[in-house]
Amino acid sequence: MKIAIDGPAGAGKSTIARTLAARLAFLYIDTGAMYRALALKAVQAALNPNDQQQLLDLALDTHIYFQPDSQQQKVICDGVDVTEAIRSPQVSSVVAQVAAHPAVREQMVRMQRDMARSNSVVMDGRDIGECVLPDADFKFYVTASLEERTRRRIKELQDKGYQVNEEDIKKDIENRDYQDSHREVGALKILPDSIVIDTTDLTVEEAVNRIMSIIQGARK
Ligand code: C5P
Repeated sequence: MKIAIDGPAGAGKSTIARTLAARLAFLYIDTGAMYRALALKAVQAALNPNDQQQLLDLALDTHIYFQPDSQQQKVICDGVDVTEAIRSPQVSSVVAQVAAHPAVREQMVRMQRDMARSNSVVMDGRDIGECVLPDADFKFYVTASLEERTRRRIKELQDKGYQVNEEDIKKDIENRDYQDSHREVGALKILPDSIVIDTTDLTVEEAVNRIMSIIQGARK
């Protein structure tokens, strides 16, 4: 079974998808982490985020996998644990530019499909229902108000010890949403067959329960 979860930045997709995958004993694939890992490598190599060819070469030379862990799963890129490094504000601010290039996306989508090929998966991102798993059994669009998404992102960063400015975080989320929804290929959108879950007033547990009951209801 394949479950696709798309939605804007900070809507709680990753936490929901990870929890859902654990309950169903499915593999969880965080495609945002894959774009972030590539963006981190681009930053470290001081590449121009607008240079499609260099970024494609980088993507072709990048190996990403997810390592199960008791807390969350680890993101391993070229043998290095980048789980924490990919969440930095610097990576967040360039990742949408890196992810906008069609050739880069094509390569990432190929890797994501390979990961999903022989497993039941919960996969989250922006273009999962449309591009990566168009035949998914369920397509969810998980969203929340901009204010709530900003609040959650601030808390997440503060918990990790970052000093944050509320306006900067809100702008970063707005910019990323704009870029993610307006690119040529793999743009974020609600599909005709998406089921929208608004998590503004829901806990993670409530959101997961809602999704579980939709899946179980459809299986009966
Ligand atoms: O999910 P997360 O917010 O960590 O994703 C980081 C960025 O990666 C997004 O803002 C988007 O630019 C890019 N992304 C994407 N397609 C996906 C997943 C993420 O373009 N399937």
